[in-house]
Amino acid sequence: MRREFLVALAVVAAVALPAPGQVAAAAPPEPVKQATATGTGGAASTVDALATEAALDILDRGGNAVDAAVAAAAVLGVVEPFSCGIGGGGFMVVYSAADRSVTTIDGRETAPGAYTPTTLQGIPFAEAVTSGLGVGVPGTLRTWQAALDRFGTMKLQRLLAPAKSIAAGGFVVDQTFHDQTAANAARFAKFTSTSELFLPDGEAPPVGTRFRNPELAKTYAQIGSGPDSFYRGKIAAAIVDAVRTPPVEPGVTDVRPGLMTLADLAAYTAPFRAPTRVGYRGLDVYGMGPPSSGGSTVGEALNILEGYDLAGLSREEALHYYLEASALAFADRNLYLGDPDFVSIPLAGLLADSYAAERRALIGPTTGVPYPPGDPTDNGGPSTTHLTVSDRHGNVVSYTFTIEQTGGSGIVVPGYGFLLNNELTDFDFAPGRANSPAAGKRPRSSMSPTIVLRDGRPYVAVGSPGGATIITTALQILVNEIDFGMTLPEAIAAPRASQRNLATVQAEPGFIVSPEATALAARGHRFASTPEIGAATGIAFLPGGFVTAAAEPIRRGGGSAMVQEPTAPTLAGTRAKAQRGRALR
Ligand code: GLU
Repeated sequence: MRREFLVALAVVAAVALPAPGQVAAAAPPEPVKQATATGTGGAASTVDALATEAALDILDRGGNAVDAAVAAAAVLGVVEPFSCGIGGGGFMVVYSAADRSVTTIDGRETAPGAYTPTTLQGIPFAEAVTSGLGVGVPGTLRTWQAALDRFGTMKLQRLLAPAKSIAAGGFVVDQTFHDQTAANAARFAKFTSTSELFLPDGEAPPVGTRFRNPELAKTYAQIGSGPDSFYRGKIAAAIVDAVRTPPVEPGVTDVRPGLMTLADLAAYTAPFRAPTRVGYRGLDVYGMGPPSSGGSTVGEALNILEGYDLAGLSREEALHYYLEASALAFADRNLYLGDPDFVSIPLAGLLADSYAAERRALIGPTTGVPYPPGDPTDNGGPSTTHLTVSDRHGNVVSYTFTIEQTGGSGIVVPGYGFLLNNELTDFDFAPGRANSPAAGKRPRSSMSPTIVLRDGRPYVAVGSPGGATIITTALQILVNEIDFGMTLPEAIAAPRASQRNLATVQAEPGFIVSPEATALAARGHRFASTPEIGAATGIAFLPGGFVTAAAEPIRRGGGSAMVQEPTAPTLAGTRAKAQRGRALR
């Protein structure tokens, strides 16, 4: 069935280069979105069917999971331009089957060299959001190249080809793309380059029309020769111009210029870093370490939860501990986490079982939020989109990348077709804290790309966008799967609740109307309703070489999961559940 998708892609690729924006042409068919796929061979799950299809195509042509992840990420930069792209950054977690180890790549944006701890002080948040000042030095392209240099088997240029074709030929505007454009229209209208590209007739392109980005196609053609063509030379000069002299429409006076220089771009690196690791019920949970707070916060919460037999408790009591463990971990995250090259982070203490026991002792039958941070320093011991790809050899990539807010800074680099991030708004605006700005520093992230191993082999990989809720989404999916016995698709679909050490738990309507929520209210939990939390993707690795790729069935319009050799859906679902149960025993 997937073969039909390739035909659709070929049609798209054959369309000649027209002007940017949308045209109301009859659209060739696009891949069908399905949120769950089970089978054998490699697998991919992303928020978009064209991106998932690009990953599967690379796998079919003999590429590995890292090759396929880069191809899918490049497509996401085209079809999800408000969530991610070469103007932003992210974190990639890779499991290498050959050496049975997990490594991570830190592609977080950095503050320019002219940044100081007081650069953002007193600036209203909204003004930092749509500005040159909030733009960090992008990390995405160096991340892709670092991953390919260490693990890849194909050249960057080849992996960018599907994305380039889609940028040139266009893709069909769906409701999510339309809504995200409309929600940002006022911001986008401030910039000549952004309104030309995303508001072609002064408004968001209608659903069902075809959106083309020939300038981005051209940019992808140029960067195929490697990251230096982006971090130096013409593209670098265009980025610096856009940041320092934002391309505002006449009369727009409220856009602060930024501080980035050519030297800042030339100096950017995406280093390999050790992953965080915690043991959880016999599994090894690997996550992203600082400057992301994802791995440490998910890890600390899991360590706290390991002291309870969640599977044996009522669901309501288990959820109480989930919310409290998350709140306690957030109290620590908020105080201690920042860029490890600038602040000393008591990471080993935060991830120590002995420290988790101290934190667990603070949990009573009713909620204790807000909790003060603890002191993990005495404890020794061991230590905004997500895509997940695996290949038939057992390699796995769990990759979250972003341009921070939907639409990033709102600034499209003139002539190059991509949005710049506003990641520096993830700093604390006040000086003197672990996450205060500094020259060359990376703002604290919440991104939580996660890979769980069982006996050294992949068990499940997940991640999600969603700012600080990323952490609780990853945590909740793991608890749903590991403790509550849900399949990965069930664990992803289940209603979400996010407790980040605040007076109220942010929760989806489906959670708030559940009987558990009523019981949790009696324990003092207060809920604030939010329509959707996160947009997760993941892959579960089942016995017998079976895999289930899973994406959101509903949230953000649903995602797209595919496997190389699908098995019949109903059979596969039953088998996945049965095998999952056995795997846990
Ligand atoms: N900037 C956020 C972070 O790094 C991710 C953006 C989002 O998903 O909202 O934590």
